[in-house]
Amino acid sequence: MSHDELPVAARVRRLEERVIAAGLTTGDELDALLDELLDGASPVNGARMVARAWTDPDYREALLADANTAAGSLGFATNGYRLCAVENTPTLHNVVVCTLCSCYPVTLLGPSPGWYRSFAYRSRVVREPRAVLAEFGLRLPDEVEIVVWDASAETRYLVVPRRPEGELPEEELAARVTRKGLIGTSAV
Ligand code: FE
Repeated sequence: MSHDELPVAARVRRLEERVIAAGLTTGDELDALLDELLDGASPVNGARMVARAWTDPDYREALLADANTAAGSLGFATNGYRLCAVENTPTLHNVVVCTLCSCYPVTLLGPSPGWYRSFAYRSRVVREPRAVLAEFGLRLPDEVEIVVWDASAETRYLVVPRRPEGELPEEELAARVTRKGLIGTSAV
């Protein structure tokens, strides 16, 4: 089993043991850092941004122009990277991957799912996005173009799915948005 195929938790644990053994940090210090990093991190945050964009044209415009500022205006920190919001349309579907590792806006999406970090997803979604999305249960008509965004430490993405039909209040719209929708592996 190569390093890449080890379960992520095992890889993380191995790395933790090494930095602790090297005297670079302590277990307590790492736990405190993780708590701080993950404090309030949840796909509910990204969903709130999307629902706001669906219901407020000014916010939508601001989000597409400068997603870091738009996240900040709702109280969500996106420090140290550029956040890009990419919007699905009737003819275009966006999906996000980090082909190198698993870069991802944690504050807005919560901890990254295992499939997002998996080698299979990272290698295949770029080559055959339509087939991979179909495996997630998202079958897109041939006329819908699929754009795959490769995230990095510097630039990360948030997909703005298409708004569901019907006149729903913002909170109910937000409740419809899933983490997969925000990554682009489901419609919403
Ligand atoms: Fe990465």
